[in-house]
Amino acid sequence: MHIGVPKEIKNHEYRVALTPGGVRELVARGHRVSVQAEAGTGSGYQDDAYREAGADVVADVDALWASAELILKVKEPQAEEVARLRPEQTLFTYLHLAAEERLTRGLIDSGATCIAYETITDDLGGLPLLAPMSRVAGRMAVQAGAHSLEKAQGGAGILLPGVPGVAPAKVTVIGGGVVGENAARMALGLGAEVTILDKSLPRLEVLDHRYQGRIRTVYSTTETLEVAVRESDMIIGAVLVPGAAAPKLITRAMLGEMRPGSVLVDVAIDQGGCFETSRPTTHADPSYVVDGIVHYCVANMPGAVARTSTQALTNATLPFVIALADKGWQRALADDAHFRAGLNVHAGQVTYAAVGEAFGLDV
Ligand code: NAD
Repeated sequence: MHIGVPKEIKNHEYRVALTPGGVRELVARGHRVSVQAEAGTGSGYQDDAYREAGADVVADVDALWASAELILKVKEPQAEEVARLRPEQTLFTYLHLAAEERLTRGLIDSGATCIAYETITDDLGGLPLLAPMSRVAGRMAVQAGAHSLEKAQGGAGILLPGVPGVAPAKVTVIGGGVVGENAARMALGLGAEVTILDKSLPRLEVLDHRYQGRIRTVYSTTETLEVAVRESDMIIGAVLVPGAAAPKLITRAMLGEMRPGSVLVDVAIDQGGCFETSRPTTHADPSYVVDGIVHYCVANMPGAVARTSTQALTNATLPFVIALADKGWQRALADDAHFRAGLNVHAGQVTYAAVGEAFGLDV
C-alpha cells in the first residue's frame, strides 16, 4: 500500500504521525511510504532519517495527497487538507468530530474513509490511542505545576519535595484516571505528599492497591473537595465525564480558602475545565493569576514535548497502521471490533453514533 505522511499544518503542532522506526516496519512489509519534507523536524526527526528508513521524502505536498492511499496524520485535517481528500482514500488521525460540525460535513463531502484514533477501544474498556497523550499530559502537569509554584511565576515559593527538615508540598489530584494516576506518580516520585480524589470507588481501590498507602485515596464530595482546597499547595484537575463538559468542581469562592500562591493545573481544560476560573492558555503564555492563585490551563499540553509525544503516539498507532496497510481497511476493521469503533465517516456517511447524534445526521 502507498502511505502518505504530510507535515502537520495546525498552529504550533510539532508532532508527526510516523517515526523513521515506523517507516522501517512498513517498508519491510513491502509498503511504500511517502513523507513530506520536514514533517518530522519538530519532533527531532530529520528527512535523512526517513530516507535511511526507506521512505520517499517529497517536497510536493499536492503529489503526496494525490497519490497516497492511506494518509496518516496527528491532528484533525484543516480546511485545505479536507479539500485534498478523495473518496478512495483512507484517513487515520485524531478527529474529535462530535465538537466539529464543519469538519464532519467536510469529511462527509470528501467521500473518504475516516478512522479516528480517539474512538478506538480495547478489551479493558479504555481508549488505547487516547491514553498515550493522557499519560504525557498527566506527567507534565506536575512539571508545569512545580514551575508555577516558583515565586517568579506568582507561586508561593515552594519546592515540591521540600528538603530535609522542611515538609514537602501537598498535591491533590482530582480524577484518578489515566491523567490523574500519571500526575500522582510524578508528584510521588518528586517527593510530594499526594492525595487522589475520585468518584469511582473501584478506581480508588485499584489505586490504593497499586500504591500500597504511598498515595492517599479519598472519595470525591463537596466536603472532601473543600478540605483539599484548604490544605493543598497544588491541585491538578483530571476529571472526565465521557461525552459531557467537565463539571466545575472548584468555584471562584473556594479560591479564597486556598493559601495565596497555591497552584491549579486544569488538565481537563480541553473539556471546558473543572475549575470555574479556568480559561484555555497556550504554551507561549501558560499561566495567569486569579485571587492570588496561579492557574495553568494549556489545552494541548503534549505539544510542548513533541518528541516524547510523537514516540508515545506512534507506538500506539503502529499496530493499527500495519493492519490497515497489510489488509486494507475493510478487512482490518472486519477482523477487529475495537478497531471498527474508530470508523467515524465512510463514503459520504457518518458511521459513529455519537457524531451522528451531535449533528442530527443519519448513521
Ligand atoms: P479518564 O476517564 O481516564 O479519567 C477520568 C477520571 O475522572 C475517572 O476515574 C472518573 O471516575 C473521574 N471523575 C469523574 N467525575 C469526577 C468527579 N466529579 N470527581 C472526581 N473524579 C471524577 O480520563 P483521562 O484520560 O485521565 O482524561 C482526564 C482529562 O484530561 C480529560 O478531560 C481529557 O480530555 C484531559 N486531557 C487533557 C490534555 C491536555 O493537553 N490538556 C491531554 C490529555 C487529556
